Amino acid sequence: IGFYLQQIKEKSHLNAFLEVFEEEALANAARVQDKIMLGTAGKLAGMVIGIKDNISYKGHRMTAASKMLENYVSVYSATVIERLLAEDAIIIGRLNCDEFAMGGSNETSYYGPVKNYIDQTRVSGGSSGGSAVAVQANMCLAALGTDTGGSIRQPAAFCGVVGIKPTYSRVSRYGVVAYASSFDQVGPITHSVEDAALILEVIAGKDEHDNVSSSLEVPDYTTRLHEDAPRKIAYIEETLNHEGLDPEIKSAILHNIEELKAEGHIVEPVSFAYLDYVVATYYILTMAESSSNLSRYDGVRYGYRSPKATDLESVYKLSRTEGFGEEVKRRIMLGTFVLSAGYYDAYYAKAQKVRRLIKEQVDELLTQYDFLLTPTAPTVAYKIGTSKEDTLKSYLEDVYTVIASLTGLPAISLPCGTNSEGLPIGMQLIGKRFEEDKLLSFSNQIL
Ligand code: GLN
Repeated sequence: IGFYLQQIKEKSHLNAFLEVFEEEALANAARVQDKIMLGTAGKLAGMVIGIKDNISYKGHRMTAASKMLENYVSVYSATVIERLLAEDAIIIGRLNCDEFAMGGSNETSYYGPVKNYIDQTRVSGGSSGGSAVAVQANMCLAALGTDTGGSIRQPAAFCGVVGIKPTYSRVSRYGVVAYASSFDQVGPITHSVEDAALILEVIAGKDEHDNVSSSLEVPDYTTRLHEDAPRKIAYIEETLNHEGLDPEIKSAILHNIEELKAEGHIVEPVSFAYLDYVVATYYILTMAESSSNLSRYDGVRYGYRSPKATDLESVYKLSRTEGFGEEVKRRIMLGTFVLSAGYYDAYYAKAQKVRRLIKEQVDELLTQYDFLLTPTAPTVAYKIGTSKEDTLKSYLEDVYTVIASLTGLPAISLPCGTNSEGLPIGMQLIGKRFEEDKLLSFSNQIL
């Protein structure tokens, strides 16, 4: 714990931590140490874990990196936090992220961007940017992130670490700030696949507080980690011939495909007809859901209230105008638009239908293969400041990750090399529903 606290101090300029629970973490470390001596310690004893600041931890602030929740203190803990603590993990602090997890570069945070440790002029990725950099720069052993459209996987790729988004409903969302409820999942960001398996095993499983959480039994991911079987993998051809893809990433992925073949796996190209529609479908649906979810921040019950407000109407208007950042407002406006009478059928209902088509096609591909393989992102970590210049382009960055988000499938990003400037490249593997065990054991085998 002393080591991590020291690293956090030395690397505070990276802006990964919003708060460090120093005293509490030291006290917990001492308590866990005693339990270890007594032989009563839990599975995660001694694991120092940072949490994305959109996950509630009772008695601690949680801002979702927004001015709106700047002074909010959680009144209960998220189920994932309860489960980490029950297994004696040490929670070391709150990690920066995009505001309300809306973004892919951590630049929408009210608290400023997180810097990539490899090149500090570049973004961390997002929205779980603080989580990825905290692990990358050894400021904690592992971190929790959340992933709605790639927010665990893409920053993991940009930082050269491992990130897994579980199957939708595998992990409870209770106590996690809602962005787009039919997409949101919590998952670990780690150095090793083994740590990811261990943490996921602890946080996954039925929770009576989240009525979509699955009651399927959670397999023992760690004991299955060493199963190695030849697998059948399909790489989606359109993702490699995609015009936005950085040629260096393409060659890294092709190189990995050759290696997998040499190791005895079957790797074949497949075609996925809907790649051009995934980003639009994702953004229509998530903006719609977010406009509804964020209506609760009204300046009345909790969160920021404008000091200039004089009546109910101005409480709503001014508190939301002043409390939310630009990207969040854009999404609330667009989300409200696609849900409004006259546009609902043209956008929202249409997007729901396209989501279904995408899901059917991806499920169909997975009847013939164990995994689908794509790059995690079309670029490496880019310069801080560039995403603000072109919002649409930053949305298009999510083209590969949202495939698993729209379909609810589990997906992992693994580091698979670096480009000529030494910047990390990530490879995404998408598995079958609830087959995180296979995804993890295969990842462990090849990493
Ligand atoms: N970049 C995507 C978005 O802005 C993903 C965010 C996320 O997964 N939370 O919606």
